[in-house]
Amino acid sequence: MEFNIINPVSVKELLGAVKKEKHFRFGAGCTDLLMELRKKPDEGLTVINLAQVKDNSFTGIKKSAKGIRMGAMFTAHQIVMNEELKKTFPVLHDSAHNLASTQIRQVATVGGNLCTASPSGDIACALVALRADCELLNTTQKTRTVNISTFFTGVRQTALKPNEVLYGISIPANHKNTKNNYSGFIKVGTRRSMECSVVSLAYHIQVNVEGKILKAGVAIGASAPTVRLAESACDFLIGKTFKNITQKEKEEFADKVLSYASPITDIRATAWYRKEVLYNISKSIFE
Ligand SMILES: Cc1cc2nc3c(=O)[nH]c(=O)nc-3n(C[C@H](O)[C@H](O)[C@H](O)COP(=O)(O)OP(=O)(O)OC[C@H]3O[C@@H](n4cnc5c(N)ncnc54)[C@H](O)[C@@H]3O)c2cc1C
Repeated sequence: MEFNIINPVSVKELLGAVKKEKHFRFGAGCTDLLMELRKKPDEGLTVINLAQVKDNSFTGIKKSAKGIRMGAMFTAHQIVMNEELKKTFPVLHDSAHNLASTQIRQVATVGGNLCTASPSGDIACALVALRADCELLNTTQKTRTVNISTFFTGVRQTALKPNEVLYGISIPANHKNTKNNYSGFIKVGTRRSMECSVVSLAYHIQVNVEGKILKAGVAIGASAPTVRLAESACDFLIGKTFKNITQKEKEEFADKVLSYASPITDIRATAWYRKEVLYNISKSIFE
């Protein structure tokens, strides 16, 4: 496996490299990239290493009245260790906590998890449930914001243009009347860690002081060409009391979640198995 490496240390240098290079890939934590290049070497490739770029907006985290913004280089480990994220968006904490191993989480970035655009991306699934926005920076230093629901355009494909880098991810604040969250990440795999999900479900359901559902985000992973928001299942929950959801309503909710799934049969599971699991874990979030 041979390639050239460029190590920009500022955003200016990074964008300069993007402008100059003809045949390049970004490398963040490189946990996906190196596996891919090992399987499929790419002659003449230049890797633009993002890990040396010194820029707080690219590497750090910031809270505001609007929500929380993470730089694309924020790592899975930093997500796990962040108390604010754990308290406010447990689904994101859980997704990062279950990703790979301690060593991989140290370097694997949120930007890499999104840009690799795997249908089984765990952090990606949580961020879809949280209805995050992706901030894309281009070589003229202009940014555009794309909602995560339109960021994934196909298997391992994103809305990023060749002259753009994913710069940051913003998660909107919880509803102002939120008293409590039912928020978590269910990952079904042959093993808990070091394994891509066979099926996953991310949910973030916000309730008011009476337990009525104000806002809901439910996303499915490893069940369709991209991670998907189960929009009609989310809408179905609004106004219902979380603790009083009936068996019939749980089944109707699970049916709606399932309508977004079009799984494949592969080495890890059959399409039938994935659907069965998805239906059952969808119901289980109320139990
Ligand atoms: C053993 C093993 C176990 C794993 N287990 C899991 C798991 O349980 N769950 C899971 O979701 N994933 C898992 N993964 C996959 C991987 O670790 C994650 O997807 C990780 O978040 C990728 O981040 P990275 O920084 O290493 O990305 P990289 O490998 O650096 O990049 C991935 C892709 O994104 C592009 N890219 C990276 N950053 C940017 C950016 N800012 N702008 C534009 N493009 C960018 C790169 O060019 C590349 O195409 C596993 C990988 C391994 C090797």
